Amino acid sequence: MISVEEALRILLSNLPECKVERIPFQSALGRILAENLVATCDIPPFHRSAVDGYALLSSDVEHAPMELAVVGESRAGGGMPGTLKPGEAITIMTGAPVPDGADCVQMVEHSQLSEAGRKVTILKSAKARENIAPRGSEARSGEVVLDTGHRIGPAEIAVMATFGYCEVNAYRKPTVAIVATGDELVELDQAPRSDQIRNSNAYCIAGQLRYMDIEADYLGIAKDDKEELRQKMLLGLERDVLIITGGVSMGEYDFVQDVFHDLGLEILFSKVAIKPGKPTVFARRGDKLVFGLPGNPISALVTFECFVRPALGRLCGMNRPELPRMMGELLADMKQSPGRMAFLPAWVFWEEGGWKVEPLVWKSSADIIGFTHANATFIFPKNRDFLSRGEIVELMLLPDFFVRQR
Ligand code: AMP
Ligand code: MG
Repeated sequence: MISVEEALRILLSNLPECKVERIPFQSALGRILAENLVATCDIPPFHRSAVDGYALLSSDVEHAPMELAVVGESRAGGGMPGTLKPGEAITIMTGAPVPDGADCVQMVEHSQLSEAGRKVTILKSAKARENIAPRGSEARSGEVVLDTGHRIGPAEIAVMATFGYCEVNAYRKPTVAIVATGDELVELDQAPRSDQIRNSNAYCIAGQLRYMDIEADYLGIAKDDKEELRQKMLLGLERDVLIITGGVSMGEYDFVQDVFHDLGLEILFSKVAIKPGKPTVFARRGDKLVFGLPGNPISALVTFECFVRPALGRLCGMNRPELPRMMGELLADMKQSPGRMAFLPAWVFWEEGGWKVEPLVWKSSADIIGFTHANATFIFPKNRDFLSRGEIVELMLLPDFFVRQR
């Protein structure tokens, strides 16, 4: 049995290279950029007014109030204005080019226009460069504005639009297949017999993948039968990643590892000191990654977050896809038999200037219903058998931590 840290080290040193694809910029939302994007022009492309008002020479209004002749107008998209001479002002709108000869813009709020509109009294002095965003002050043509590895959100989409990048190179999302296995499993459109249960893990895993913006192909249930497992796994190996749930423990009918061997997969670990989820298996064949997650629903859920997410996130080009960790104060005494690092369900909330950790009643690693009340897991270190109320514990937040409500 290896430690969680060692399992992660093995996992991360066995990842294939991320693949890159060229996609329309709007489809790149949520992806990781796989190239440096440079500014294709100066931004702003001209000295730009930040306010509605008058473009003028700051030296003309040093002793404001001061009357100036209104000689023209500069509006956004209305062409480049002419040149301004001392004693003159040009009406200007937000986003419009500042005329040559002017060195500042005074806000319309600090002015009074004559009735004829030909003269304006500037009521307040203005400093040189006031209310002007100089050409190239946000980006200079040729400068890198987005680095490779940068996550693409709405602001990044706006930057791509600004510089006319209709297509960009982004890391490709891995293709993923999910297989469930177990003679006792039936699908939702079947009524379970008295000895059967409905397959829930495949749908839970598909949901966890969707939280990572990864769509998966669900290949159905394989019976506890080597040939059936083999067929499904072969199909699954056509994708980048195969996730199989169930059939990895020590039972008489747990055939998943046998079939991994038959298919020539290299098993990189098969037992981790984690609770729940000890029988987690990680294997590869060439560039294909295969995860065998335990069948118990919480074991599958937790080991997905601990092992599958870090691997898949990296295949998507992310540097640090792990779920966020933070510290919180445990609100109850907790006992466990030491030996495995435990990820236990908790409700974490902010109170009196700190994060409080309320451990949830947890019937077993099968108790997915109990787990629906969790927004985080807290970590029970493997060398401890007791945690006291008031201790500060490490938390692994669930992906929807910030939107979950009680
Ligand atoms: P296994 O890992 O195959 O030994 O299964 C462990 C436990 O998880 C058993 O109680 C199974 O019935 C249950 N289980 C296995 N696969 C699933 C699944 N896809 N959905 C819900 N429960 C499952
Ligand atoms: Mg089974």
